[in-house]
Amino acid sequence: MKILFYDTKSYDQQFFEIAGEKYPEIEIEYLKTDLAPRTAPLAAGYDAVCGFVNSDIGAGTIRALKDAGVKLILMRCAGFNNVDLEWAGKCGITVMRVPGYSPEAVAEHAMALALAVNRRLHKAYVKVRENDFSLNGLLGFNFYGKTAGIIGTGKIGAAMVRICRGFGMRVLAYDVCQNPAIAGLAEYTELAVLLRESDLVSLHCPLTDDTYHLICRDTIAQIKEGAILVNTSRGALVKTEDLIEGIRARKFFGVGLDVYEEETPNVFEDRSDQILEHSVTARLLSFPNVIITSHQGFFTKEALEAIAHTTLLNSLAWERGEKSPNTVEG
Ligand code: NAD
Repeated sequence: MKILFYDTKSYDQQFFEIAGEKYPEIEIEYLKTDLAPRTAPLAAGYDAVCGFVNSDIGAGTIRALKDAGVKLILMRCAGFNNVDLEWAGKCGITVMRVPGYSPEAVAEHAMALALAVNRRLHKAYVKVRENDFSLNGLLGFNFYGKTAGIIGTGKIGAAMVRICRGFGMRVLAYDVCQNPAIAGLAEYTELAVLLRESDLVSLHCPLTDDTYHLICRDTIAQIKEGAILVNTSRGALVKTEDLIEGIRARKFFGVGLDVYEEETPNVFEDRSDQILEHSVTARLLSFPNVIITSHQGFFTKEALEAIAHTTLLNSLAWERGEKSPNTVEG
């Protein structure tokens, strides 16, 4: 089994090399460049490619992978909205992913963002470093006794429900299908009711045609005044222009984003020496009640270990012709 690994960061290589010690039959070559139509031909001679959340795995890349003889796309993540599954099917290429590698990693980060923006930790950190020990601008509110609204109650959403319950919150949930794992912990309701009643709204549904711009002018109008919005799922769940309008209208107490629409060129890159042109991110960051992190929800030791192990096991299951629940189809 030969895998060409795209968009390699030092921590990817570190965790895959440790996991790979168990499977000497797997050979991995690591590339820094990401998977895209122009870089796909590099995979000639490999059985599989390994991509990540911002790899461009549209029709162009898939056709180039087919021409290169690649039979398997290994996504080292849960989401696969950047993969054209229909084209993969047409080209006879299997797509596999790592669902639920560590739901708690993402849910804990969602709560970290909610707490940080609530208690203005981003401002407090800077103030104290500047010997400003005043409390101006740092007033928050208790989560205890308040209502959390969880949109999408799969693995990560369910973990977030448990965390919110641990904080003594009432939890409302919205999903297209109910998860029995949270029975008794959360109350399923209509989206409009959840938005109207929740002090904290946290997004945990995947990006699909149905959820694209789920949070837009219409839904923002339904959100409770002074709520906190957290998105650790996918950027395009939120229409950024409308979010900015809502923030300007003083709708939100705070907003915590681990993902945002324009993240692709930024994610996992050090752009500190660059001037970012036309950046909505910069506009968002100009608000005192917004915190942005760069798609780091998954980034814990436990999650990286699980991602590496499952990705390698996926490749072996495919090689043996086994059916796997980790295979995704269009
Ligand atoms: P999951 O498949 O276990 O759960 C997703 C849930 O969303 C399911 O219960 C599903 O029924 C629900 N859903 C689907 N369509 C919906 C709709 N239209 N309205 C409401 N709910 C809907 O997935 P998960 O493992 O919990 O992951 C959720 C998302 O988190 C992923 O799709 C991915 O985008 C994101 N994620 C982010 C990070 C990060 O680092 N920030 C890491 C992993 C995953």
